[in-house]
Amino acid sequence: MNPFESLGLSEPLRRAVVDAGYTTPTPIQAQTIPALLAARDLLGCAQTGSGKTAAFALPTLQRLAEAPSRPGRRPVRALVLAPTRELAAQIHESFHTYGRYLNLKGTVIYGGVGQGPQVAALRAGVDILVATPGRLLDLCDQGLLRLDAVEIFVLDEADRMLDMGFIQPIRKVISMLPAVRQNLLFSATMPGPIAALASGLLRDPVRVDVEKPKGDGARTTHALYSVGKADKARLLVHLLQAQRPFRCIVFTRTKHGANRLTLQLEKSGLVSAAIHGNKSQGARTRALQGFISGDVGILVATDIAARGIDIDDIDLVVNYDLPDAPETFVHRVGRTARAGRTGAAIAFCDEEETGLLADIERLLRQPLPLSTDQPFHQHLDRHARPQTPAQLQSERVAQRQGPPRRDRDAAPAGRGGAAAPPRHGGGHGQGASHGGGRWGGPSAGASVGHGRGPSRG
Ligand code: AMP
Repeated sequence: MNPFESLGLSEPLRRAVVDAGYTTPTPIQAQTIPALLAARDLLGCAQTGSGKTAAFALPTLQRLAEAPSRPGRRPVRALVLAPTRELAAQIHESFHTYGRYLNLKGTVIYGGVGQGPQVAALRAGVDILVATPGRLLDLCDQGLLRLDAVEIFVLDEADRMLDMGFIQPIRKVISMLPAVRQNLLFSATMPGPIAALASGLLRDPVRVDVEKPKGDGARTTHALYSVGKADKARLLVHLLQAQRPFRCIVFTRTKHGANRLTLQLEKSGLVSAAIHGNKSQGARTRALQGFISGDVGILVATDIAARGIDIDDIDLVVNYDLPDAPETFVHRVGRTARAGRTGAAIAFCDEEETGLLADIERLLRQPLPLSTDQPFHQHLDRHARPQTPAQLQSERVAQRQGPPRRDRDAAPAGRGGAAAPPRHGGGHGQGASHGGGRWGGPSAGASVGHGRGPSRG
């Protein structure tokens, strides 16, 4: 028996899965699909790359197809909430792919584009709606969308929703849903507010935890570069010119920083594109399409914009600025070494980021290997941990007055007066074994499907 058949999937869905090139269910699919077909609620601890979209899309499609709407009326029967436009578009595209042999209709709605085409699609009737919370509530408030016929509600990447301040909007959406429905919540991590949300939302849920496949982390080679803030761009150019990655994502802290960096790369003859929240949807789509097609080898991104981008063959991830939350580092690095490939992850650490580095290394429970063989290397004082703006300021003043940067290699440890962080134990209960990963499947699959849905233009 076909392994997807043994999970209880109907023939039209199995055919679509074969078309997609999948031969074996991923672990989350194997555990989730039978429970969801049996109408159970679900709490899924899993990240992008685990195959979770198909894990919820396939049974959702099957349940809706088994009990079609009355003719002439197509209310929204399945609602999927996602934190970002890119992820929403990708989920919508997955429903489209898997539902191709079924008579169901779907659309995706998100902000940053005109609402006209989205409203027209909703008016024409939609069974499955994928949405970001803001635009969804906006359309509900305008009386253009009702959620009172939703039978299946999926909350995807709930922890990211929390990070983005969407918890109140989500609670409002939930209050608009009918009382009887199937609920699914997916989250890569389970911080307190998400656990609380889950316990209010889910009734007797099946819980599925999917660890990243073993050995995945081992396929990522890490390197840490200690570099002054002012030298970061030049170091990046140096590395990119030396390593010539096929596809590279560079993470910056700010939108402004992403723009500035792309200009600097351009000046050095490196073709790159920036993607962040201030870019229009059209510009984001163009940047992504260029990246997928290979015309643009370097994508400079902020975390929020990069969330949900699902591209397999990224061979280098650069943490140009270290993230504030160490978990974000794990998410970023998980973009390389996917689908059985190897990858490299580079982290830049400047004089103000040693505290962030310590947090990351504590979460990983191992130090990142320092690479000193580079022209902009500066002494890395792993114990310096500027903690307050005043300390940072006095660091900067000391740097301005001190000897030239290269000479500071010999500076005594502890300069800056900040306390050393505890460097062992504790942690967040997560090892270094996080990141993306997938189980075979189509090679070089880049499924960024927005622009094809009705939300276009
Ligand atoms: P997701 O975790 O939903 O973002 O899925 C990650 C990737 O895995 C997507 O590109 C899917 O196309 C792919 N995928 C999902 N299910 C399977 C499967 N059973 N076999 C191979 N690849 C899959």
